[in-house]
Amino acid sequence: MQLYLSQTLKIHNSLSGKKEIFKPLNEGHIGMYVCGPTVYSNVHLGNCRTFMSFDMIFRYFKHLGYKVRYVRNITDAGHLVDDAEDGEDKIAKKARLEKLEPMEVVQRYTVDFHNILQKFNFLPPSIEPTATGHIIEQIEIIKDILEKGYGYEKNGSVYFDVAKFNETHEYGKLSGRKLEDMIANTRELTAQDEKKNPQDFALWKKAEPQHIMRWPSPWGDGFPGWHLECTAMSTKYLGETFDIHGGGMDLKFPHHECEIAQAEASNGHSPVRYWLHANMLTMNGKKMAKSTGNNILPGEIFTGDNDILSKAFSPSVVRFFMMQAHYTSILDLSDDALLASEKGHHKLMDALNAIDNLETGNTSDFDIANWKRECYSAMNDDFNTPILIAKMFDAVKHINLIKENQQSITKGDKKELQATLNAFVFDVLGLEGKSNSDSDSGKLSGVVELLIQLRKDARDNKDFATSDKIRDQLAALGIQLNDGKDGTTFNVI
Ligand SMILES: [Zn+2]
Repeated sequence: MQLYLSQTLKIHNSLSGKKEIFKPLNEGHIGMYVCGPTVYSNVHLGNCRTFMSFDMIFRYFKHLGYKVRYVRNITDAGHLVDDAEDGEDKIAKKARLEKLEPMEVVQRYTVDFHNILQKFNFLPPSIEPTATGHIIEQIEIIKDILEKGYGYEKNGSVYFDVAKFNETHEYGKLSGRKLEDMIANTRELTAQDEKKNPQDFALWKKAEPQHIMRWPSPWGDGFPGWHLECTAMSTKYLGETFDIHGGGMDLKFPHHECEIAQAEASNGHSPVRYWLHANMLTMNGKKMAKSTGNNILPGEIFTGDNDILSKAFSPSVVRFFMMQAHYTSILDLSDDALLASEKGHHKLMDALNAIDNLETGNTSDFDIANWKRECYSAMNDDFNTPILIAKMFDAVKHINLIKENQQSITKGDKKELQATLNAFVFDVLGLEGKSNSDSDSGKLSGVVELLIQLRKDARDNKDFATSDKIRDQLAALGIQLNDGKDGTTFNVI
């Protein structure tokens, strides 16, 4: 029997604002769509947290035995700088500033995104479609929306008619906003505005002559509005109605609200059964923002190359830190919090490494069946990873007592304990670094220190070919040397 059949999973649906029992449309199968990154700069740590939450959810569904089709897109066109209708395309702007082809910008930051996610041990989604690869599908949806009377064309651009839609549907139902309030709180349109109402949003924008990202359409050369790509790609790969749509809390309005409106206008029914939103990451109690300097890139955490943290932290420690908060709670990153997570991570891995050598006896002092039930209950309660981790540490406590011969465990229970811990720690939470014990890291340090010394000797003898070879080959293995005035240190990236 598949594990999911014996579990009742409840998830917080942003649409109803309640925890609901999860039932997929097709038994045993799940369709999940998550809004991916706009690839015009290095991936933001806050975005990593959002994607990590959905990676954990994807992993748990797989663990339960569901067949999951997980679609996470790449936004490589259409996302405007100020999220309004008159900004410049984010990727086109970056391309202009750096004198690159837009697709060079897209390639560079897509590679960075994948590289960081791989370090964090993400599972790849089932499909990772791009906006530029689905222009035809987007044009078809616009045609459909126009035909049904929910859009209008003006000077080569097409807009969604929110007021018209709201006559028969409910615009704002996801974010809990009312159209009348939105109208009361917005400025009047000026004569130059093409939109009938400020709430209307672009489905297609006419490309000005200097605009480099452009495609032909029935309304002239242009490019799609940002909200449309997700409707096009989710419909294409998951159907007109699918199980789960996820994203960051900040996407609830207007992006997800617009997705609902587009889908309901074009195919007549609600696209998503469960909307899930991950909360944001702050740093030292404040919002992370490049402009204020309260910002750190994932790569800077792994190398320790920053002024904010006292040392480098491994991706698995950062992942463990993020999993210690519920995905719907705000999480604050700080040096102290990462140091505490590192300690916890080592303690957990040490216990996992110790299981193999535990001696078994005729009785168990640990009720494994009950503990296992509690682990599943935590995850079945809207993916409550902090409680799951607390349960992992209940097991750690017992492992350590058994190690000290103060408690005992039977052979069967030991096997069960090990299998369950491995499943939750590695398969579901996605942590890594089982052999992170002091002895192993001590050996690694010893070897690298030896190479650092040999490199120093080579440099003293002006044998720079050898010294560079040592540095480069260590770098290729993911060990970075940092030369400072007090000598050379290293970190494992
Ligand atoms: Zn989206």
